[in-house]
Amino acid sequence: MSIRLHNIGKHFETGRQRTRALEPVNLDIHDGELIGLLGPSGSGKTTLLRIIAGLETADPDSGARILFGDRDVTDLHVRDRRIGFVFQHYALFRHMTVFDNVAFGLTVMPRKHRPSAGEIRVRVHRLLEMVQLEQLANRYPAQLSGGQQQRVSLARALALRPDVLLLDEPFGALDAKVRQELRRWLRHLHDELGFTSLFVTHDQEEALELSDRVAVMSNGRIEQIDTPEAVYREPANRFVFEFLGDVNHLEGEVRDGVLTCGEARLSVELPDGPEELLLRPHEVHLVDTPTPEARLPVTVTAISPVGAEVRVELAADWLGEPWLATVRHADYEHLDLQRGQRLYAIPRRWRRFSGHVSQQRQPTPA
Ligand code: ADP
Ligand code: MG
Repeated sequence: MSIRLHNIGKHFETGRQRTRALEPVNLDIHDGELIGLLGPSGSGKTTLLRIIAGLETADPDSGARILFGDRDVTDLHVRDRRIGFVFQHYALFRHMTVFDNVAFGLTVMPRKHRPSAGEIRVRVHRLLEMVQLEQLANRYPAQLSGGQQQRVSLARALALRPDVLLLDEPFGALDAKVRQELRRWLRHLHDELGFTSLFVTHDQEEALELSDRVAVMSNGRIEQIDTPEAVYREPANRFVFEFLGDVNHLEGEVRDGVLTCGEARLSVELPDGPEELLLRPHEVHLVDTPTPEARLPVTVTAISPVGAEVRVELAADWLGEPWLATVRHADYEHLDLQRGQRLYAIPRRWRRFSGHVSQQRQPTPA
């Protein structure tokens, strides 16, 4: 089911205060797509999801329209929108078994639409099979782990065969390993059942790994919507770049093709004036001796050799915030990295944002 959002604006009035939660938002979601809504807390993700669900209404005078396929659902009640929800704290019914929790939505349907008891039993068992919980059908929620409870929530949401599945930080309360497992498993289910999903998260990795397209939100606005690769590699603006990963800042003054910042020097092809360059940790190269193009002395202040790459924290008098560099284990061994060691950083590439325009450059290799 495709979803078309047109001019979804929202203000909240609390006492004398008027908060803008959403600038008019426009978004087209394709049939069968899994969209990640990614943004910091307060950026309007939940509000947008609730408006799509029909739990909240857009500003009445904004000309907001919501279309599911070619059906205009703007004025439709939540129960008529054929939507499934999973929330972080969408508690299960504690006094009901897993089976009854999943069956609940079906058992309370109006009689003329309600499947027979036998049909409900078959459907619920099939769902529990899908989320791999058949063995636990007779347990109560308190007897399940957090990850299992969220799988029950998902099965419950799917019981009514929704066209659209809305998930608001569904794995937010779970630990990293379980989250990762559930993520893969949600992706699998989404592809198998072919619904259209909107997945809210403030976790960059989660959004980038799971989504067909990611909508990056800030301040009630969609800053960029594109494939995970495109938002990561071609951020539309500084906000998107900074939100999607660790960033090192190099702020200084350019004169005659040299950027100076305290004792640090870097050759750049930029006009004279103040300048700020941004680079990712993997774009910082570490060497023993400076080059004619780059002389950025740094001291190693911390090393974390855990994971696929070694994370190295770097400090210097010319730096406000310490830098973070990720280096390969081979380089870590080759440089014989130690805390307190003095090295030189070489930016492999960097980016600058003037206003909302992103520029990128690959310096000539040293
Ligand atoms: P997110 O889910 O991205 O954290 P929300 O959509 O919950 O963001 O909130 C967006 C903005 O709207 C925030 O500034 C929040 O304080 C405000 N807001 C959300 N719900 C309400 C409400 N019911 N009443 C007043 N303000 C609200
Ligand atoms: Mg929220």
